[in-house]
Amino acid sequence: MPHKSPPKGSQKSLSPKGHLKRPVGNDPHEAHRPRLRTSNPLTVGGFGSGYFPMVPVQTIATVPCELCGSQNVEIVATQDRDASPLQVVLCPQCGLVWNDPRPSAEALAAYYREEYRQDYKGTLEPKPRHTLRAARVAVERCRQLRGDLPPGEAVLDLGAGGGEVVYVLRQLGFPASGIEPNAGYARFARERLHVPVTSGSWQEASIDPGSLSAVTLFHVMEHLDSPLQAMHLIRGWLRTGGLLWIEVPNVEAVCQAPSHRFHRAHLYNFNDATLAALGRQAGFEVVRTFTSADGGNVTAVLRKTEHPVAATPSLPGNANHIRGIIQAHTQLRHCLSAAPFLRPLRKLRQRVSETIGLLGKKTPKELMDRVIREAFHSGVLSVVIDLSELAAAAI
Ligand SMILES: [Zn+2]
Repeated sequence: MPHKSPPKGSQKSLSPKGHLKRPVGNDPHEAHRPRLRTSNPLTVGGFGSGYFPMVPVQTIATVPCELCGSQNVEIVATQDRDASPLQVVLCPQCGLVWNDPRPSAEALAAYYREEYRQDYKGTLEPKPRHTLRAARVAVERCRQLRGDLPPGEAVLDLGAGGGEVVYVLRQLGFPASGIEPNAGYARFARERLHVPVTSGSWQEASIDPGSLSAVTLFHVMEHLDSPLQAMHLIRGWLRTGGLLWIEVPNVEAVCQAPSHRFHRAHLYNFNDATLAALGRQAGFEVVRTFTSADGGNVTAVLRKTEHPVAATPSLPGNANHIRGIIQAHTQLRHCLSAAPFLRPLRKLRQRVSETIGLLGKKTPKELMDRVIREAFHSGVLSVVIDLSELAAAAI
């Protein structure tokens, strides 16, 4: 679920229901939650709320730390990336970062089912540019996954979007399927890409125990209201030795403006240490973690073990490490770095490349096939396939 800023005109869909825009006021459970110690957390100012580092403000979280259970936390931000109110807290025990307070599980489920795609893509199903972009990302993800898993093994992509990862995996010989909460995107996957993606939430999924060899979550875990619960559930679906592959935004990232670090739809913010620790907590061993080239994303590859070792939730030094990165990433430093100049250039290059890739009328399937061919087949084979396609079209 990669993000971009909401398209112009989409704000309208946020405001009337606004489950995530104003989480405090719309949460039916809010009245039963403990009051924050700070009289007005939106004016006190955590060190991530503006462009200048400030002294961290202590408070008590309404949602205990998912990793270590602590409720004593520090406020690290009081604004969303669009400048609307959002309180983000850091656990000083382990370094996990989350939005607190936040909407109820019911409000979140309704948001992802009905509004999320419309809000962030401005569409009820992927447009050709979205499919092309998702296809290019999907082939890179599947290329990496293929190194860990032989073809023929059953894979489930949770939060499958338009089904691009499922499509690529199936082309590579994996009997892959997907689950996607948004009905329009799931329908697109089924009807336009002809891949098995069911519409629903991870809690509703009906998967036989031990039936899967791998489960993938690409930019999904940060949206879940209980990542640990989800990991436990997924562990039950996997066979012993099965893989859980999770990619999330990296809370340590400095490639974006400091004001863009936090987002109301990202309920949790991880680094490699907290993501791996959650995996161990849920009964997985950590195969490896790695960070994307720009530092924006972090991935954990986890393996289900038969006899999980009791994990130690405390991560000494991790909170200090994350706090230091957030404090040091001021707007001034960001402007003096290369990131603000490289980012628009990358986006321009991407835009041009996509415009070229979209030339001529292509179905979503044709777009996917072309990207897969370019990624996985040799030049000679690609020419042969192109010629056979031309011949088929001529007939
Ligand atoms: Zn913690």
